[in-house]
Amino acid sequence: MCGIVGYVGAQPAAPLLLEGLGRLEHRGYDSAGVAAVSGSGLRVHKSAGRVRDLTGTLPKRFAGKVGIGHTRWATHGPASDVNAHPHTDATGRVAVVHNGIIDNAAALRRRLSDDGVDLVSDTDTEVFAHLVGRSAADTLEARVVEALEAVEGTYGLAVVHADFPDRIVVARNGSPLLVGVGEKEMFVASDLAALVRHTTTVAHLDDGELATLTATGFTTFRSDLTRTATEAHEVDIDPAAYSLGLDGEDGAPRMYVEMLEQPAATERVLRGRLDEKFGTAHLGGLNLDARETRAVRRVKILGCGSAYYVGQMGASLIEELARIPADAEAASEFRYRNPVIEPDTLYVAVSQSGETIDTLLAVEEIRRKGGRVVGLVNVVGSAIARACDGGIYLHAGPEIAVASTKALTTMYVGFALLALQLGRVRDLSIADGRRLVAGLRELPAQIEEILKGEDHLAEVAAGLAEAESLFFIGRVRGFPVAREGAQKFKEISYRHAEAYQTSELKHGPLALISPEVPTVALVPDDELTDRNVAALHEIAARGGPLVVVTHPGVDLGDLTARRIDVPRSERELDPILLTIPLQVLAFHAARVLGHDVDKPRNLAKSVTVE
Ligand code: GLU
Repeated sequence: MCGIVGYVGAQPAAPLLLEGLGRLEHRGYDSAGVAAVSGSGLRVHKSAGRVRDLTGTLPKRFAGKVGIGHTRWATHGPASDVNAHPHTDATGRVAVVHNGIIDNAAALRRRLSDDGVDLVSDTDTEVFAHLVGRSAADTLEARVVEALEAVEGTYGLAVVHADFPDRIVVARNGSPLLVGVGEKEMFVASDLAALVRHTTTVAHLDDGELATLTATGFTTFRSDLTRTATEAHEVDIDPAAYSLGLDGEDGAPRMYVEMLEQPAATERVLRGRLDEKFGTAHLGGLNLDARETRAVRRVKILGCGSAYYVGQMGASLIEELARIPADAEAASEFRYRNPVIEPDTLYVAVSQSGETIDTLLAVEEIRRKGGRVVGLVNVVGSAIARACDGGIYLHAGPEIAVASTKALTTMYVGFALLALQLGRVRDLSIADGRRLVAGLRELPAQIEEILKGEDHLAEVAAGLAEAESLFFIGRVRGFPVAREGAQKFKEISYRHAEAYQTSELKHGPLALISPEVPTVALVPDDELTDRNVAALHEIAARGGPLVVVTHPGVDLGDLTARRIDVPRSERELDPILLTIPLQVLAFHAARVLGHDVDKPRNLAKSVTVE
């Protein structure tokens, strides 16, 4: 969460910073601000609200060719002008932008107050500006290091100082920071999206690393001021793919655009990885040879939010196809229960951004204890991708919308590929392998077909949007689909949506069923269809309205229900096709309710704070 940008070069900084912030707004949109230094001192312009409002009110004379900017996702203190970053010290000569949380901020605030410092905001970040401002060390680098010594917590931060007007000093511990190298100009950002218009030569900072940027270059160092060898390299990306921020020029919501990109994204994640002849997948990036693949006795998947639910879908794919015990766990909980790390367990970390702090910390915990982790990650070169022993890149292209669609679909396909590879060195027959390879090849066209049914889905969604509260139910393979459906619905429609196993309804939640509480039920054509239909009758008998996501030909008898048919695939691959209509339902329900689907309240993309 939170977007950081910085610029040092020959051009006025503010317009470049504001343009960069526009591309990072999905990382936080409660307030924004910029600061620039020049010979005449430090200027700061910040306010609650959107970047475009900030741009509209930027004072005419906002000099400075060195500057930093921020879009905030508040952790400490409400979204207000005064809490917006950059924060300054008491002299008004230091400005700081920060992503993360300073854990000991309360103690530092007390200490500063006792020393007579007047703290003007509620944020944890402000203390850092004062600490830098109070240091008397010779260089800005040494002042930042001195301030960091007092600080506990996570940060990606950037500092400018009117007394050192040729540079930006940045530091990273747990929150992403990338340095972009231009022609006699340097950039820093928390996300590639803010850099690619200017440069694709990028250096990823590591945790514990700092960097100084001047117009002519950058140097990286550690907190003892010794230099590190971090270098910039070309990133292999298509800048055009990053051309749209949250306010895309075409006006279409990012979530909608990304939903429609799913067939193409699915093709990309499959490209070059399927082997028809042997009915398997080739995932070279896993860095596991056949012997190591065979030695895996258990699979543990870690992710957060929707990535966790896709992880659950992945776990059941792996158990079914490879017959290896597999389960998924919320990465945010994992390391706090002192987990047992086993040498023959393959750990899989799932994250779109590759910067999800909870998942990253889980990966570090596993690695510290000698476990082997592979990543399912979309963003190339991200922290999780770098921290893992190997992985599968998702090739979904940039995902900007907070509500994930195409990244989740490619995660699911990534799990299917992993399950195939694990299965085919065990008992999965070549015939079953080929059947699944063929099934995977069909997915893009099948997703396309579901998306073509948008009008019907929009109509069903309008009905659901009227309910204050609703259930999503499914069984076994369908249960994580129900969880993801409920998650998406609540994220953007703000309706209370709860997922349950269909089998568990009568053990409690049936008490809530009424004509006001609709249920979206997943009833694929499988060994549980009859049991699922019976449960729907129990809901109908209590007046509960029903939406049934099912396969053509499934007989719902005399049930009164809105029906959504999805194409049949190989049974093991059903979950992903069942998920797609739930995305479309959530999208249209949110639109009917008049919500901005790309800026769901209280949320932001890439959760980089714990
Ligand atoms: N903890 C800081 C604040 O609340 C930074 C939040 C962010 O990452 O945007 O202002």
